[in-house]
Amino acid sequence: MTVEILVLKETAAGERRVAATPETVKKLIALGAKVELEADAGRSAGFPDRLYLDVGATLADAGSRERADLVVCVQAPPVETIARLKSGATLIGTLHPAADPARAEALQARGLINFPLERLPRTTRAQAMDVLSSQAGMAGYKAVLIAAELTPRFFPMLTTAAGTIRPSKVLIVGAGVAGLQAIATAKRLGAQVEGFDVRPETREQIESLGGKFLDLGVSAAGEGGYARQLTDAERAEQQVRLADHLKNIDVIVCTAAVPGRPAPRIITTAMVEGMKPGSVIVDLAAETGGNCELTQPGQTIEHGGVVVAGPLNLASMGAVHASEMYARNVFNFAALFLKDGELDFDWEDELLAKTRWPDMPPPPAPAPTTAAASE
Ligand code: NAD
Repeated sequence: MTVEILVLKETAAGERRVAATPETVKKLIALGAKVELEADAGRSAGFPDRLYLDVGATLADAGSRERADLVVCVQAPPVETIARLKSGATLIGTLHPAADPARAEALQARGLINFPLERLPRTTRAQAMDVLSSQAGMAGYKAVLIAAELTPRFFPMLTTAAGTIRPSKVLIVGAGVAGLQAIATAKRLGAQVEGFDVRPETREQIESLGGKFLDLGVSAAGEGGYARQLTDAERAEQQVRLADHLKNIDVIVCTAAVPGRPAPRIITTAMVEGMKPGSVIVDLAAETGGNCELTQPGQTIEHGGVVVAGPLNLASMGAVHASEMYARNVFNFAALFLKDGELDFDWEDELLAKTRWPDMPPPPAPAPTTAAASE
């Protein structure tokens, strides 16, 4: 039986992205699937329905949600939508089940095969499916553009008839995927860029983008390439050195995160009060509480002449390219189990087994040998 795939229209406030583009729909159809699209699903990402119909998709009807074998989305659908999906259907998206108990219950109640893509193991093989990386790239880029918009200064050095303008000093806090893209973007705009991170290997990455590594004398490399939480003593040392350094910084873009935990609080109110008036902080970590103590998620405030912005869902601001990357990530993941128009899961594949939620049950213990059994 030909597998039916449904592309959901996102309903979360401000969400402009879509989980499949005409390019990936064409590829899904080439793998033998039938693809249905909820009306206007791609419109705010720059992909009107007709582009999908041109590559062979059809528009969803009233029964599509109950019928689809595989449903793709960007953010988790509302509980009422999940409740309508076919029992046993497969759902791919950034589902964040732990963020909402009602959603977690609904995802389990339907017996769905849930693939929250944020759970994907970050191995080399998984890179083409890594939505955290692809969307963080857009977020880091947009964060710098927001900072450039908010600052009352130029980013680049200018030599003008009215004298020389010094370049802005931009500090990027956290040099993961978003932070590195932020460094590259600020550099392209001509700023003097510094980056800092607690993982020592980021020094080389920051420098390769033309940034300067800000060494605060604290290293916190953790498991799997991520940062670990700092000890109190390490944090205190980091804080003292940073406070002093920030007095000369014009723009800070915060991107520091520790997986599964609230964002580390790095920039205190006292530090902000020590900065020059007219300085700007854009806190990309606002979604998980913020790296700056003053950050208010979704708002831009001013404190003692320093502007602190906490924009949310920055990837959605670049919906065209963010959707193109997200949709390719989804396609590459779906291609692991979509074969000849059918869904065929290899649970020995760690990308499938470890992404699936709830956790897969451990494999059954080997049966006792006859000799042992007879003892
Ligand atoms: P993230 O969003 O979890 O964290 C962002 C950055 O914040 C990290 O670089 C982290 O070290 C830093 N940070 C945490 N606490 C900090 C503190 N107190 N002060 C300063 N910085 C702090 O991370 P991410 O961007 O999703 O990924 C981090 C790393 O994971 C990557 O740079 C890479 O090495 C690895 N990764 C691997 C793959 C892959 O192989 N498929 C894909 C993506 C990422």
